[in-house]
Amino acid sequence: MPQDSPGLVEVALPVPLFQTFTYSIDPLIRAPLIGSRVVVPFRNATTIGICLGPANSAALPRKVRRIIDVPDNQPVLSADMIALCRWVADYYIVPIGIALRTALPSLLTGAAQPQPARKTHRVVRIGANLPTLLEREKAFARAPQQRALFELVESLGGQSTLEHLLKQLSFSPSVLNALEKRGLIAIEAEVVERDPFATRPVTAADQHRPSDAQAAAIAAVNAAKPGEVFLLNGVTGSGKTLVYIEILKRLVKERGKTGIVLVPEIALTPQTVDRFRAVFADDIAVLHSALSDGERYDAWLALKRGQKRIAVGARSAVFAPLDNLGAIIVDEEHETSYKQGETPRYHAREVAIVRARLEGAIVVLGSATPSLESWANADTGKYTLLNLPNRVGGGQLPRIDLVDLKRRRSPDEPREGPASPAYPYVIRDELDAALEQTLARREQSILLLNRRGYSSFVQCSECAAVVVCPNCSITLTAHRAPERLLCHYCGHQEAPSQVCRRCGGRTLRQRGLGTQQVERLLSDRFPRASIARMDVDTTSGKWAHAEILDRVASGEVDILLGTQMIAKGLDFPNVTLVGVVDADTGINLPDFRASERCFQLLSQVAGRAGRGPKGGRVLIQTRVPQHHAVMCAVTHDYLRFVREEMPGRIRPSYPPNSRLANIIFSGSNAEAVGNFAIAAAEWLRVLLDKQQIQAITVIGPAPCPIERIKNRWRWHVLLKSLQANELTRVSRYFMERFPVPANLRTTLDRDPVALL
Ligand code: ADP
Ligand code: ZN
Repeated sequence: MPQDSPGLVEVALPVPLFQTFTYSIDPLIRAPLIGSRVVVPFRNATTIGICLGPANSAALPRKVRRIIDVPDNQPVLSADMIALCRWVADYYIVPIGIALRTALPSLLTGAAQPQPARKTHRVVRIGANLPTLLEREKAFARAPQQRALFELVESLGGQSTLEHLLKQLSFSPSVLNALEKRGLIAIEAEVVERDPFATRPVTAADQHRPSDAQAAAIAAVNAAKPGEVFLLNGVTGSGKTLVYIEILKRLVKERGKTGIVLVPEIALTPQTVDRFRAVFADDIAVLHSALSDGERYDAWLALKRGQKRIAVGARSAVFAPLDNLGAIIVDEEHETSYKQGETPRYHAREVAIVRARLEGAIVVLGSATPSLESWANADTGKYTLLNLPNRVGGGQLPRIDLVDLKRRRSPDEPREGPASPAYPYVIRDELDAALEQTLARREQSILLLNRRGYSSFVQCSECAAVVVCPNCSITLTAHRAPERLLCHYCGHQEAPSQVCRRCGGRTLRQRGLGTQQVERLLSDRFPRASIARMDVDTTSGKWAHAEILDRVASGEVDILLGTQMIAKGLDFPNVTLVGVVDADTGINLPDFRASERCFQLLSQVAGRAGRGPKGGRVLIQTRVPQHHAVMCAVTHDYLRFVREEMPGRIRPSYPPNSRLANIIFSGSNAEAVGNFAIAAAEWLRVLLDKQQIQAITVIGPAPCPIERIKNRWRWHVLLKSLQANELTRVSRYFMERFPVPANLRTTLDRDPVALL
C-alpha cells in the first residue's frame, strides 16, 4: 500500500497532460482541503489547480515544489462534483484538470485575479420577527411610520434595497435608522447581481390543472427511485413544461431539495425560462451564454451558498454547484447543442444521468422526438417511459401538407430552375396563398429555411436520387480540385457522373439558398407585412433573440423567417401557419444522423403551429416527399420513424446499435495531416491485432466532411464498438501513447453527435 506523505498534496492542473501533480504545503499558509483551489508554480508560470487530497509517496518527483497560495476558505468543488469530473475525465478521455476546470466559472480558474472586484449596494432586511398582532401593536404603538415601513419590507419578501425604499417609496432615513436601532431591520452591504434576466419582467404563473396524462407522469416521477431516469415523450404542445414544474415544486418547495433545468439554448427559449421564473422566482439562477464572467460567478456563488436552489441553463448548468440535488430536467433532450464542441466534448444529458446517479437524484428527459439513443434505452427498460400523447386542452396537432418541389409549375418551366431563383421558385403557389391568407386574417407565420448544408452533394434533377457510398449508405460529398465524390466515413471515392444511375436523368449540384435572399423576396411580395429574420447574422447582440421573439409575442411581427433556431420551444397562439421553404438540405448531409435531424427539425417546427384556439397548418416544401423523415413528420408518427430509421443503423452499425469515438487529426499542412491519420489508423489496427481485441472496429482514415476549419486540415478515424468499456480503454491507450508531432493535433470525440 502506498503511504500518504504528510505535507504533500495531489493537484489537478488544467493542462493537456494525463497526470496529476504533487506539491508540498507551505506551513505558513493554510492547508488546502479536498476540492480547494491552490495557486501553484507550473513550468515558468503560476497556475490555479484543484487539490485532490494527500499525495502518496509512491513515484514522487525528485524535487517537489511548494504551493504558493490557497485563496479560499472553502473548497470550490464538493466530493460529489469531483467524482462527477472524474467520470467526465475518464469517459471523454480528457485530463482530470481540464474536466474540473469545466465545472467551474472561468473567473475562478483563469490566471486572472482569483477574486473579482465586486460592486455592492445596501440592502434592508427584516431583523426580528413580530409574528403576533399583539407584539406588533406593542412595538409600533407610537410609531405608525415605522410600522408602515416594516410591513412594507415584509411584504416585499423580507428585503429590499435601501435606494428603493428612500427614492422610489420616499421613506425618510430617520424612520429607517430608528428601526435599525431597535434591531427590527438590518441594513447590509450586498453584492449587486449582474443578471440581465433580473430586468426581464416576471410573468404570471400558469394556473392550469394537470391533465390526466400530465398527472400520471407527475405521479410516476414522484414515486421514483433515486437515480431513476424518465423519458417524457410528449408531442409538441402536450404541456411538458407543466410536468417539469410540478416535479420541481414538490422536490424544491416541499422537500427542500434543489434542481437543475437544462434547455438547449437559453436565448432561444426565453418563454420556457419565464415559466419557471413565474413559479420559482428568486429561487432560480439563470445561467446563459450572454452572462459576463462576473455575472456567471455571481450566479455560481448564489447556487453554492444555497441562496438559489434551481439552476436553469444550457449544457454547462449540469455542473451547477448545488447540494442536496433532487432532479435534473433535460428539456428537448434530443438537441445536439447538449454536446460540447470543444474539449471536454461531454454530452450534458449523459453527464446529468451520471450526476443524478452519484447524488441520488432523478432525471427527466423530455422531447417530442427523443434521440434514438434515449428511445433505445427506454425500450430496454433502462429508462422509464412516460407518454403525453395529445396536446393539452383538446388542442389538435396541426395539419401538415407537402408541396413537391420537383413538380414543375408549367410545362415550359426550365427543369433546373434559374441560377438565382425568383420568388415563385422559392415560395410555391400553395405556400404563397397560405401566407397571403394568414396575413389577411392578421395572424402570424413562421418560415423555416433549413440551411444546414456546408458541403455540396450531387442530386438528380429528375428523380431526386442522391449519390451515396457503396459501403456506407452515406451521401457522397462533392469536392473540387480534383473533381470527385468522396465518402467521408471510409474514404471511398469516384468520379462524378453526368447521368443519374437510377433514372438516367441529368445530375446537378445542389446549392444553398440564403435567408437574406428569401427575406428580400418576401418583402417584395408582401411590402406591407412586417418580416423579422432570425439567424446567426441578426442575433449577435446580447439579447437579440429575446427581442425578436418578444416582438413576435406582442404581435408586431407578421412573418418570422429563420434558420433552425426558430424551431425550438416557441409558444405563440397567434402563429397559425408554419412553412418550411426547403426540407431537404439537411437530409443529404454526409452523416448517419441526417434523417433523424431532419425528422426532429420538421416535427419541432411544425409544433409551433396551431398552439392556440385558432388552430393552424403547416406546409413543407420538399423534393423528397417520400422520404421517411418527411413522411413521418407529416403524420406526427415518431414510432414509425423509429421503426424505419433503426434498420439503417444496424448494418453498418451506428448508434444506438453501437458506440462511436471519432478521432480527429488536424494541422496546417494538408499532406502531413493525411499521413498522420494514416499512421494513426495503422497503429490502432496493429494494437487491436496484437492485443486480440475484436470488440472494436477501426474505420478510415478519411478526410473530415468539413476538410478545413480555420486553416487547419482535418482527417478522422472512427472507432466503433458495442462495449463502452473497451472503447474507453482503447481510446485512452491511444490518446496517452500515440505520439503527436509538434504542429499536429489529435482530438477524440466520444459519442459524436455529428461526424462533420
Ligand atoms: P410542450 O413543451 O409539451 O410543447 P408546453 O409545456 O409549452 O408544451 O405547453 C403548451 C401550452 O399548454 C402552454 O401554453 C401551457 O401553458 C399550456 N398548458 C400546459 N398544461 C396545460 C393544462 N393542463 N391545461 C391547459 N393548458 C395547459
Ligand atoms: Zn463509405
